Amino acid sequence: MAQKPTYEQLESRIKELESKARERQEYEKALMASHQELLGTNQQLENAIGRANRMTFDAEITYIELNHIFNAAADAMCVIDREFNVLKINETFSRLFGIKKKQADNKKCFELIPGSDCHSSNCPLTKIINGKLCPEADIEKKAADGSIISCIMSASAYRDPGGELYGMVLNFKDITYRKQLEEKLKELATTDGLTGICNRRHFIELANREFDRAKRYDTALVMLMIDVDHFKLVNDTYGHDIGDEALILLAETVKNLLRKVDVFGRIGGEEFAVLLPDTDLNGAVITAERLRQAIQESCVETSKGPVRFSISIGVSLVTENHESMGDVVRATDAALYRAKEKGRNRIEVSEQAPGINKMATAKLNCSESCMPTAPPTSMQR
Ligand code: GH3
Ligand code: MG
Ligand code: MG
Repeated sequence: MAQKPTYEQLESRIKELESKARERQEYEKALMASHQELLGTNQQLENAIGRANRMTFDAEITYIELNHIFNAAADAMCVIDREFNVLKINETFSRLFGIKKKQADNKKCFELIPGSDCHSSNCPLTKIINGKLCPEADIEKKAADGSIISCIMSASAYRDPGGELYGMVLNFKDITYRKQLEEKLKELATTDGLTGICNRRHFIELANREFDRAKRYDTALVMLMIDVDHFKLVNDTYGHDIGDEALILLAETVKNLLRKVDVFGRIGGEEFAVLLPDTDLNGAVITAERLRQAIQESCVETSKGPVRFSISIGVSLVTENHESMGDVVRATDAALYRAKEKGRNRIEVSEQAPGINKMATAKLNCSESCMPTAPPTSMQR
């Protein structure tokens, strides 16, 4: 039979149980605290995930926006890395240069848009890598249809988040239309509307340049001044339109007989002028005679029959006596005046240049023999 526990034994057992109960309470308290802590950490994690999700969303939106801006930009753009590899081109670039995005894959920039600066120290990327400034540059590229695309290219450094040079953004502003307008304006400002040859202002500009060149390099230069004979009569007899056609025919005929280096312009209503660089007086007189004869043999076809006309030509060699192009013009004009006085449809050489008159006259005598003494019949009053 089991012995009854003693009072001491019971007391000790009670104390033991009380101690265990306290330990359990402590343990439960600690468990509760850990649970609370875990709950807090979980909340923090959830907050962090929320923030990360929002940032990812914002980043995606920003990427979409930037991509849209990149593609919708009015200028053509191309992003390249430090090794000239094309990373990205925008839609304007594709449209402007006729290069599809796929065609740009694995290409170097100088393969897509070769320019005179490529592989030289003027290459914008090379300049930026060497820490130099990269000014804007004019570039021209042939389009697929053969037309020329003119652009202003600017380049800016493209850096990674650490500030290291990663590559470049090349920006191309299409100025083709502006260039075409400038060309058109230049053409309008320098050409004669009726005949398409140099107008008076441009001729004078080129003449001054030729004069300076001849003086500086001591080369020969001759001026011819051409005036249509009795042109008033052409207008009065056949009308102004036929007169215009005669002027166009004259310009075409003379132009076809001149060299590329010769300068030819319409300096007045029915007055034209020619500059023959690197030509001596002999050669100039031969040319003038050829022009006179060609005009005499040409005609404007009209309903009233062929209209013929003739020209008189003054010839003047630039000499040391001429201090300016104005002096040459005056001398040539005086020679032309004499050609008119002596009966028209003929050539007269300026008498102003000492030492050349004999040679000029000798040549003139030779060419005079084939000159008719009167203007062609259709022009006789
Ligand atoms: P000359 O042999 O002395 O040179 O006689 P001309 O009749 O040619 O001389 P003038 O200088 O008196 O006349 C030139 C004429 O040229 C007068 C003008 O009506 C005509 N003219 C000037 N410009 C034009 C033009 O653009 N078209 C036409 N059809 N005629 C023009
Ligand atoms: Mg005249
Ligand atoms: Mg005339």
